[in-house]
Amino acid sequence: RTVYVNGDYLPETEAKVSIFDRAFLMADGVYEVTSVLGGKLIDFDGHIKRLERSLNELDMPKPEAFDDLLDIHRKLVEINEIDEGMIYLQVTRGAASDRDFVFPDPEEVKPTVVLFTQNKPGLADSPAAKTGIKVISIEDVRWGRRDIKTTQLLYPSMGKMMAKKAGCDDAWMVEDGFVTEGTSNNAYFIKGNKIVTRALSTDILHGITRAAVLRFAREAQMEVEERNFTIEEAQGADEAFITSASTFVMPVVEIDGKAIGEGVPGTRAARLREIYLDESRKAAI
Ligand code: PLP
Repeated sequence: RTVYVNGDYLPETEAKVSIFDRAFLMADGVYEVTSVLGGKLIDFDGHIKRLERSLNELDMPKPEAFDDLLDIHRKLVEINEIDEGMIYLQVTRGAASDRDFVFPDPEEVKPTVVLFTQNKPGLADSPAAKTGIKVISIEDVRWGRRDIKTTQLLYPSMGKMMAKKAGCDDAWMVEDGFVTEGTSNNAYFIKGNKIVTRALSTDILHGITRAAVLRFAREAQMEVEERNFTIEEAQGADEAFITSASTFVMPVVEIDGKAIGEGVPGTRAARLREIYLDESRKAAI
């Protein structure tokens, strides 16, 4: 596959970044994942706006290529012939001349920009959407600025492994007794006509898919309540689901071994997935 590194389009085997890159040494990097459906980008503007916010929150300089990101995404989709899949974009504070906790001078050290595609034929028609996924709950021990999409993904990665060991697909993280979010997605339950999900704050990532899905839910006359909730409350719900750029809306059928509703994907989550996919395809660029 062809990847993008600091202005160059290269075969992935020839792409290189420095061992002094601050993302490699200190996880001093931010990222975005945008999905591709029908060769077009889903929710691109939302992802770029969030990238800009992440950069600002970390005093990370905006890369020179910032305004070209749409062109770069499109070019990679074209070169790699992606019909369905994802594009990963990472911006780091760059490679300083040595390892140092102090940020390098932005006049001297420029950000590293890397993009690559992930080909996922059948992404929208995923079998998991028909069976639903099983989650476990784990303690949320991440840092306090989860609203910034940084490359510090070790704990979410460990959470995913804990889920796999338990024969499940993902983990919902819990802090002070309340669910924050999934390892790489936002978490919801549905009771009657009401969708409940944690409110936006520094405790969770402000999902781009979350924003779209909640808007579509309200348009479909569903009630939306943004508040804290416990694992027990979600276990007693009619339906549960997660959202993210790569899973869209994915039903959750089991939490900590307890079946949700009938233990099969609920009709409302399935409907929300359908609406999200239809509307996103229409708005894709
Ligand atoms: N929460 C976390 C921790 C995530 O890593 C992600 C996505 O990677 C999300 C939520 C969902 O965000 P989005 O819908 O923008 O993909």
